[in-house]
Amino acid sequence: MADHRNIRELDLTELKAYFEAIGDKKFRAMQAYEWLWKKNARSFDEMSNLSLDLRKRLAEDFSFNSIKVDITQQSADGTLKSRFITHDGHLMEGVVIPTEKRNTACVSSQIGCSLSCKFCATGQMDRKRNLHFDEIYDQVAILNEQSLAHYGTPLSNIVFMGMGEPLLNYKNVNRAIERITSPDAMGMSPKRITVSTAGVAKMIRQLGDDEVRFNLALSLHAATDEKRNRIMGINETNNIDALVDALNHFYQKTKNDITLEYVLLRGENDSLEDAEELVKVYRKIPTHLVNVIEYNQVEGIHFTKSDEDSTQAFTDYLAGKRVNVRVRRSRGKDIDAACGQLANK
Ligand code: SAH
Repeated sequence: MADHRNIRELDLTELKAYFEAIGDKKFRAMQAYEWLWKKNARSFDEMSNLSLDLRKRLAEDFSFNSIKVDITQQSADGTLKSRFITHDGHLMEGVVIPTEKRNTACVSSQIGCSLSCKFCATGQMDRKRNLHFDEIYDQVAILNEQSLAHYGTPLSNIVFMGMGEPLLNYKNVNRAIERITSPDAMGMSPKRITVSTAGVAKMIRQLGDDEVRFNLALSLHAATDEKRNRIMGINETNNIDALVDALNHFYQKTKNDITLEYVLLRGENDSLEDAEELVKVYRKIPTHLVNVIEYNQVEGIHFTKSDEDSTQAFTDYLAGKRVNVRVRRSRGKDIDAACGQLANK
């Protein structure tokens, strides 16, 4: 029975059928399943309550495509960035960001990215492939172990704000989140998970239709089509009106949180007129928060961050219009772990 399926593709019923088929006891399936999803084993060797022969047999019959930590760097502010290597030799990154109240993991959904947002480091790389759901799951499991080891507390939140566009890898992202939130695996609350998208209207609607239970963030970054087209090519096919409609659909179906993200680029989108346009879009979307993001310098990209005065004026303007606004200062800049800096360095 050398089918070389990925063992994590099998559900418990299928695992039971396998163990029966090789003449072993059904309860072995539960033991193996626990190694896979409760104890987060990353190889058959670790499954110490299975006999050596059985572990060998499993290794012959199945693949186990776990990722490994290549290197981990720690920032002066405590942020941990890890570069992971996949079974087929690709590199991607994940980050743990500690604050007083929470430890947030920032995870990747693709190797590279097919979009080319002008301000983003990952956008300068090609998309090599989608991450498979078990690889996304491994990232979270490993970052959770790091969180426990370094800060003494597990992850409290997960954001899909690493490399890649999660909604262009829809199936794997959803399947990974199913595992991350399932009581028979990691069991985290979906309310503590946020998927961030550059704006794929069709898939935002799909999230609504699928009645997902996690939150959504839209990387808006410009509030008119003209400006947004210039910095985010995806806007040409997913314009602001289409995104507004899709987000309303998402909210109507799920009632989950929607956050708007807006990275302030000096002289590009940080004027008071830009703020005024942003208020107009904000009013059309059932969102509770605008996250104004400090831009992180990326090598080879001409954009720079807004100065303090413009940032203040921009956020004051929003607050004056009763927009719930928060400024997100970047973390981990010294190790290129901040938003938009992930490029496997
Ligand atoms: N593709 C998804 C998720 C990855 S990017 C998305 O676009 O939302 C995560 C966030 O970081 C996005 O809001 C992105 O626009 C922002 N970002 C990209 N480059 C940045 C940079 N250099 N400085 C600050 N934020 C950046």
